Amino acid sequence: MSARSASPALRLPSIDSLLRHPACQPLAQRYGRDALLASLRQLLDELREQVLSGQLDAVEITPEVLAGRTGERLAIQQRSHVRRVFNLTGTVLHTNLGRALLPEEAIDAVQMVARYPLNLEFDLHSGKRGDRDDLIEGLIRELTGAEAVTVVNNNAAAVLLTLNSLGARKEGIISRGELIEIGGAFRIPDIMARAGVRLHEVGTTNRTHARDYEAAIGPRSGLVMRVHASNYSIEGFTARVPTAELAALAHKHGLPLLEDLGSGSLLDLTRWGLPAEPTVRQALIDGADIVTFSGDKLLGGPQAGLIVGRNDLIARIKKNPLKRALRVDKLTLAALEAVLGLYRDPDRLAERLPTLRLLTRAQADILAQAERLQPSLAQAVGEGWNVSAVPALGMIGSGSQPVARLPSAALCLRPLVSKRLRGRQLLALEAAFRQLSIPVLGRIDDDALWLDLRQLDDEAAWLAQLDQLQVQE
Ligand SMILES: *Cc1c(COP(=O)(O)O)cnc(C)c1O
Repeated sequence: MSARSASPALRLPSIDSLLRHPACQPLAQRYGRDALLASLRQLLDELREQVLSGQLDAVEITPEVLAGRTGERLAIQQRSHVRRVFNLTGTVLHTNLGRALLPEEAIDAVQMVARYPLNLEFDLHSGKRGDRDDLIEGLIRELTGAEAVTVVNNNAAAVLLTLNSLGARKEGIISRGELIEIGGAFRIPDIMARAGVRLHEVGTTNRTHARDYEAAIGPRSGLVMRVHASNYSIEGFTARVPTAELAALAHKHGLPLLEDLGSGSLLDLTRWGLPAEPTVRQALIDGADIVTFSGDKLLGGPQAGLIVGRNDLIARIKKNPLKRALRVDKLTLAALEAVLGLYRDPDRLAERLPTLRLLTRAQADILAQAERLQPSLAQAVGEGWNVSAVPALGMIGSGSQPVARLPSAALCLRPLVSKRLRGRQLLALEAAFRQLSIPVLGRIDDDALWLDLRQLDDEAAWLAQLDQLQVQE
């Protein structure tokens, strides 16, 4: 006789008996009695209906089975929302995936200041109160040639704070070709408005001349701004005033020139075969009075916004009450100092700074890795897919060099089904990779899923979870 017909009045165990049951003890230990109680209650509420309508067998509601199901639920509930992922999208500095990876030196520094008190705003020499910017000012001056420095939460904050400090209630003159949107609701005209600076746009989208700036400068002018059009490129019939010329023009009228470099590199990247990106030092040499740039783009450090330039202007920026609202925390400062320290030895930078190491990985090396992993992946996805190791093109990301492509290599997965079904198959496979314990993120393009291996460092962890992949047939 089946359990069902033998016990028409099947009953769920009581909460109390479950809580006392040995099968639940490890759960109480691990997650706490309150969480366990709440989870058990919820499960029993859900099962009650099914028990009443006779959909369950006695074996499905034993304390052991119920404890097992509760354990699974608690594990998912308590899983951290912050998850490590594999970024195989081909975009190295991916804003949605956390941009730059920190070098070991920075990770150690973060751990130290997370664990112990530090001289964050305390001058150990005089025993008096200090300024947190002092911790990194010397290094940044050395590496950029700037007179003075201040650091805030990100480059968007750096631009906002600089504009507000130097141009509030006055006009900010900027070329129409530089009124850009960076994504995530950062648009130059909006930031200007929020900073209290009246936008005075000059020239046209593709061509702006010195005479356009000259004609705009008047008694209401407060500053001239230049924005590195980092995430798009204007090609063809274009004209742009060189920074040196624009600086001379601004200075002739007593106005500061601020330049938002976006990514802003500290060194000339062409020495590593990467596309040229304007350096902070060059922008200052050309005459920019203030330069702003990100900490977690090409610099390869933590999220931060660096503001460098003239002493008197930096002093005004530091006095702005907004500075307090936008300042960086100790973890960021510790990481930033460690990253900047690596720049003192450019010869070893490409080995020590993950961003540069990943950006400079040779295509042949990545292709060899793809070929090595191809058989395991082919086996994991099974019949129905063509898996090949192929050259591919990636990008730097985060607005650096939007047009330039990084020669890379990828594992390319193509569904062997009719064209009509391909889209669905691809989406299902992409989702399956996202469900792995360390989600694997690739990109769908040209009827295939591409896993760009430029950033696959931890090959062992990647391989170890392939057998969890649940590909729908
Ligand atoms: C990325 C970027 C910003 C914003 O920098 P965050 O550090 O992301 O806040 C501002 N301006 C330009 C030109 C950029 O490329």
